[in-house]
Amino acid sequence: MRLAVVAVMLWSFSMPAAAWAAEPRSVSIGTSQGGQPLLLYELGSGAQRVLILGGQHGGPERNTVELTQAVLDYFTTNPEDLPATISLDVMPVANPDGVAAGSRQFLDGVDPNRNWGGNDWRADAYDSNAQFRVGLGGSEPFSEQETRALADWVLSTKPALVINYHSAGGFMFGPRDGLPGELATLYADATGYSWPNPVGGGRSPLGYAASGSMNVWLRESGIPAILVELSTPWYPEIERNLSGLKAVLQRLGGVGGEERGVRGEV
Ligand SMILES: [Zn+2]
Repeated sequence: MRLAVVAVMLWSFSMPAAAWAAEPRSVSIGTSQGGQPLLLYELGSGAQRVLILGGQHGGPERNTVELTQAVLDYFTTNPEDLPATISLDVMPVANPDGVAAGSRQFLDGVDPNRNWGGNDWRADAYDSNAQFRVGLGGSEPFSEQETRALADWVLSTKPALVINYHSAGGFMFGPRDGLPGELATLYADATGYSWPNPVGGGRSPLGYAASGSMNVWLRESGIPAILVELSTPWYPEIERNLSGLKAVLQRLGGVGGEERGVRGEV
């Protein structure tokens, strides 16, 4: 009897605070060409959704998978840092076949970030190593089932902000005007990534044209988006990106839902 009481007390004291945190809800938004589920995790119940993507370029950018998973773990165990008006949709492995195969591309060789239907889409495109490759953009915009699944998810949930992690470059792209511009400024200030402005006459850090990217399509669809290139292909840079995310989420959570859909750069 006495032993049982002690056991219960020990059990109570050993329960970490995290045991009461809400577990993320897992959703499969589609299937990869290799038959793997495209898994996304929802956290929180606010009306303003923030979509966070890792692993779009598969194995060579595996540190973005590690970072995005760490972001999901952090907000799962620290729900008080997620404003009540916001929910997170976190997709750590946007290209599961590419992660499994150690490749940037989908199974059929099309690049996950050259297949989006913005006005700059091209069938033949430069890869992340500035090599021009026939068919890299797909046979047509959204030819790939993974691209279609993610685009459908974005169009049906209308995120207040998308953050898409890549590596390696040590810079970020983001909108310049309105609330989205404020969010990008907060992210740049908190993380310290350089934030070149090629649209405003600055020099692009890319030595090639990245046609058919997700960010151009998002911009044309009126959905604010930040693209972050981690500094190296190895380290997840968790602390600096958590600082950036917290700054952005607090600002977004403080303005209510009425400013959703404010357009970024045009
Ligand atoms: Zn990439």
